[in-house]
Amino acid sequence: MSGHTPETSERYFARARGVIPGGVNSPVRAYGVVGGTPRFIASAKGPHITDVDGREYVDLVCSWGPAILGHAHPAVLDAVHAAADRALSFGAPTLTEVELAEEIRNRVPAVERLRLVSTGTEATMTAIRLARGATGRDRIIKFAGCYHGHVDALLASAGSGLATLALPGSAGVTAAVAAETIVLPYNDLAAVEAAFAEHGDTIAAVITEAAPANMGVVPPLPGFNKALSRIAHEHGALLIQDEVLTGFRVGPSGWWGLEGSVEGWDPDLLTFGKVVGGGLPVAAVGGRRDVMEGLAPMGPVYQAGTLSGNPVATAAGLATLRAADTAVYGRVDTVAGVLRGAFTQALAAEGVPHVVQWAGNLFSTFFGEDAAQHGARDYAQVQASESWRYPAFFHALLDHGVYAPPSGFEAFFVSAAHDDDAVNRVIDALPAAAKAAAAA
Ligand code: PMP
Repeated sequence: MSGHTPETSERYFARARGVIPGGVNSPVRAYGVVGGTPRFIASAKGPHITDVDGREYVDLVCSWGPAILGHAHPAVLDAVHAAADRALSFGAPTLTEVELAEEIRNRVPAVERLRLVSTGTEATMTAIRLARGATGRDRIIKFAGCYHGHVDALLASAGSGLATLALPGSAGVTAAVAAETIVLPYNDLAAVEAAFAEHGDTIAAVITEAAPANMGVVPPLPGFNKALSRIAHEHGALLIQDEVLTGFRVGPSGWWGLEGSVEGWDPDLLTFGKVVGGGLPVAAVGGRRDVMEGLAPMGPVYQAGTLSGNPVATAAGLATLRAADTAVYGRVDTVAGVLRGAFTQALAAEGVPHVVQWAGNLFSTFFGEDAAQHGARDYAQVQASESWRYPAFFHALLDHGVYAPPSGFEAFFVSAAHDDDAVNRVIDALPAAAKAAAAA
């Protein structure tokens, strides 16, 4: 199978580069790290994705998270078709928005009030504006390697896309904005205590990925998030837990359901995206009622959106969440567990030092002796890993019909539609990928 030439993708990519910067509408899609031609996609169904050259792959990207049910799930498509038949957008309230908001709150009671937006970036941008509005303070703490969308203040040391391109931050972000963001090493509570000791009365919020998956998967150490909440509150700041990636993916109530609800504490604000739209543009910011009611038209914090709560998009999100029952999460967890074991087995058989790290059903692999011995607990350790082995691993998988994330700093995503056939196709592809990683 290897040596397959994606002729049509190559043609389209050349054409795309003539009109779209880099030929893509989001940077990691460009195969900048792994090299080669990004596959242009024609269609997807269940666990499979098919490119414009007619090659079908088992999809381990799942649209970067939304496709928890698998692609083109019939209940979701039916809801979308029915909504589209009623028209595409009204710019006025609809019942579906309320139903989706209630579904989210039923799953995560820490979300007393929420507002729907269209992208995760808007959700985190609104969350930090709300925190600043509620506290009257300017500074934000974020963690190196955590990605919260392309919000100016949150682009410093932001994981995957930027890690991949080896950019320190982004041009076009003013020094004044950057100065309001304090970037700390992940999983380092002493650094958080020290930052609050020095700047406590100027810090509006700590924002963190509930379980980071944008520098590869780096789970929080036990008690880390709870301590963040305690320290922030001791200093009059808020904790924003970004669940754009983990929300309704790692479990029916997201990471909050695995941790906050078990430990008995709540973040002040949470952000969601990806699964809440089931593949269409829906995201949300929610949390404490008193903070959320700071939003216009009730309060002084402005936020708006022409397409916010779009009727077709919210129909897709609602149908996705309604179908995502415990059996769905059970299957996603099982598939992820089997694949984690298979990755380890294949890499060990080729003597490739590595660690497979995971948070719920999200997982990724870090190569190298250090990673194998100690794991990767923060962005510096992630960057010290042998990520140069990943391109060979990736291309061998692609050659063998497995569509993996085109950067080693991303999580692998699976769905409830990944049946045993799909899982076995991945397992069959892994020995060649492990060999390629060993030879890199
Ligand atoms: N937060 C997290 C944790 C994310 O993973 C992402 C997207 N990968 C975002 C925010 C931004 O979401 P969007 O791409 O929808 O703007």
